[in-house]
Amino acid sequence: MECVLCRIGNENAVITETKHWIVSLSHDQSYLGRCLIVAKRHVGSLSELKKCEWEDFGEVVKRLELALTKAFNATLFNINCMMNDAYLKHPPNPHVHWHLRPRYSHTVVFEGRTFFDKEFGHRFNPEKTRKVRDNLRDDIIARMITYLGT
Ligand SMILES: [Zn+2]
Repeated sequence: MECVLCRIGNENAVITETKHWIVSLSHDQSYLGRCLIVAKRHVGSLSELKKCEWEDFGEVVKRLELALTKAFNATLFNINCMMNDAYLKHPPNPHVHWHLRPRYSHTVVFEGRTFFDKEFGHRFNPEKTRKVRDNLRDDIIARMITYLGT
């Protein structure tokens, strides 16, 4: 069955990958540094994840939080596993992935663009979108890679 998340590793927005996870920068940068953490295995629910995948996920989150704090001075992180879209189709074909949204108590200026987290201290706004040009996206990825280390 067709699954876009199984092909995410082929996209040019990959920031890093580990044995079990791929991290890709989201098209939507309304929260600067927003990214997807996608299981490499086509697995449909969190309860099906293996212990090694959970351990690896913990390391990925740790590295991303440190990198985003250094790169953009992020204040905190909202990390959600929702997968609602997968259930709009019949039959559903979910693939475990997490949305990581850095949150900011302050304005961030990056490459001349201003990012402001108006909802800081509250739930992120799922309606808010900010598509950025490919070159800015590349710059965000490059900055994150700088601080991710190896
Ligand atoms: Zn898949």
